[in-house]
Amino acid sequence: MDKVRPKKNLGQHFLKDQQIARDIVDALTRHSGYHQVLEVGPGMGVLTQYLLEKEGFTTTVIEIDKESIHYLESEFPILKGNILSGDVLKLNLEQQFKQPVAIIGNFPYNISSQIFFKVLEFKNHVPEVVCMLQKEVAERISSPPGSKVYGILSVLLQAFYDIEYLFTVSPEVFNPPPKVQSAVIRLKRNNTLALDCSEKLYFQLVKQGFNNRRKTLRNALKPINLPIEMLDLEVLDKRAEQLSVSDFVNLCKKAEELWKH
Ligand code: SAH
Repeated sequence: MDKVRPKKNLGQHFLKDQQIARDIVDALTRHSGYHQVLEVGPGMGVLTQYLLEKEGFTTTVIEIDKESIHYLESEFPILKGNILSGDVLKLNLEQQFKQPVAIIGNFPYNISSQIFFKVLEFKNHVPEVVCMLQKEVAERISSPPGSKVYGILSVLLQAFYDIEYLFTVSPEVFNPPPKVQSAVIRLKRNNTLALDCSEKLYFQLVKQGFNNRRKTLRNALKPINLPIEMLDLEVLDKRAEQLSVSDFVNLCKKAEELWKH
């Protein structure tokens, strides 16, 4: 069957390098023993072919591009019944998969952040993620507090996942080559079932803090109206990028305690 024409608006950059494809698939560790894997954006199936060779889990794919779907249906008859046609951002992972499901993919770079918000929404159903994305975003997500690139997604994801930067991938191995460098990262669900504070407040503080990342938290968090009793806390002299997950959790706890009284 004819190859799929890469479409720019769908972020299609097809991986040509078979060894890299194998390495990405081999990066799944089966962390906590899942039996299902969802591949996001299989395109022409360069990762899918290796996923299908693996034993111990079932592979499902979700692809938004009709042309790719036709290609997959004709080249991988064994996938029948496990090809979802549609937008991953509209998928309800708990309804679609009764059991925990790992996520893998060469993500469409334009929606990679949104895919991670989806992962967070279903974090108790997603034990592991292995993905390729823009190198910058990969660095951001996996970087520790204090680093310049540490941001909202770093703090939100690191609260629930252990994140490893695996390797860098250069543009030439794709058709067409993207303008940026790429990287592969792995996220493994940690043991935190729930935060020690309200998750809603945690998300709110993190987002608000980073919205004004150059300001001290005392200023950046003004719209949240923290209890006045805590405004002289030293931690509020810092900027969001200097706080670890547990610093943010402690800040939330403090605010909640004071609000209760
Ligand atoms: N896995 C293939 C293709 C990667 S390019 C490879 O490595 O060669 C990204 C793929 O994601 C494309 O096939 C694109 O059609 C698909 N895609 C883009 N937006 C999507 C969305 N919202 N939901 C599902 N798939 C999407």
